[in-house]
Amino acid sequence: MYKKMKLFHPDQIIVEQSVKNSSYTKKLLSKFNAVEISVVSELRDTKKILKKAGGKPVLLITNYKGNIIKKCPGSKGVLCCNYYVANLINGCPFKCSYCILQDYLNCGSIMLCANIDSFFDELKSVIRQNYILRLGTGELADSLAFEPMINLNEEILPRLKNYPNIILELKTKSANIESVLKYGSPNQVVVGWSLNPQEIIDSDEINTASLEKRLTAAKIMVQNGYKVTFHFDPIILIDSWETKYAKVIDKLKQIIPPEKIAWLSLGGLRFSPSLKRIIQNNRPYSKILSTGEFVMCNDSKFRYFRPIRIKMYKTMIEKIFQWNDQIPVYLCMETNQVWKEVFGYLPSEKNTLSYVYSPYPRNQDKSEVSL
Ligand code: SF4
Repeated sequence: MYKKMKLFHPDQIIVEQSVKNSSYTKKLLSKFNAVEISVVSELRDTKKILKKAGGKPVLLITNYKGNIIKKCPGSKGVLCCNYYVANLINGCPFKCSYCILQDYLNCGSIMLCANIDSFFDELKSVIRQNYILRLGTGELADSLAFEPMINLNEEILPRLKNYPNIILELKTKSANIESVLKYGSPNQVVVGWSLNPQEIIDSDEINTASLEKRLTAAKIMVQNGYKVTFHFDPIILIDSWETKYAKVIDKLKQIIPPEKIAWLSLGGLRFSPSLKRIIQNNRPYSKILSTGEFVMCNDSKFRYFRPIRIKMYKTMIEKIFQWNDQIPVYLCMETNQVWKEVFGYLPSEKNTLSYVYSPYPRNQDKSEVSL
């Protein structure tokens, strides 16, 4: 059986010369007195450096030159949800069996952008006046997994208040909410939890917080005035999945008032052919690849056969809407056709999804984002 890992601690730190003296880098380095630190003039090829480290945990502190903020790349032929991603952190210690990061990163390592000012400069350029922009840091990382070690929220969240058109989503499978509570604002920050039955957490997300811990953390955020988001993604069709996912929704009902859910997404298990080989090699014990028949889709990813996905989404949505049909539910990485068959409408045709799926006009009467 695959063993639970220890928390991330770097064996080596590599710092790019140009950010060596930034206040954020200094704060980070002061936490690792006993770790070997190398300073390099430029971090040209992260992939090669990480490969050379041979799987040892490395912390790379960079002055990232490319675009930190990008429109979410989505996937060919699927509906875009107008989400932006800020890749301030690359890497995740949790090593979920199905994680796409295994395909191109050494997951035991982390790359951190220390040029925080560049991030805020870019933010200015993507903001459109009078429109709310949803931004997340969880595309190439779990947004909060490393937070107790890297304290990134201390650098980002207080300054975010100068950009009132931004809603920042911190997606996580951890319960590391302390720094969000300390530095965040309920008007601008939401923490989003990926949810699965505990059975899947035990088998395929084994380094992450338990379902109970994730929900308790979500409850604390709500008690502190925040809205939260949830992502049933990836939904994996294990035996009796209907009952098992229904139980997770029931737990959610007991803890979170529906009006406190800013949005909730659903996405079925999907993987590229190369990720399939990685799962087979790295996780021979995982059963996820035998949970159904997978077909190759237009974006070169395998998914459950379309009629099965439609049934899966309809079952989940029926259960969620029995609880409250005003929760903004959307499908992640799905086609117009699946959307139409599941909901009977496209997201652009539904008011409750306006701030998820289209640039959302700010309420002109309010000076704050109306989360
Ligand atoms: S928590 Fe997310 S980013 Fe981290 S290993 Fe799991 S799927 Fe990948």
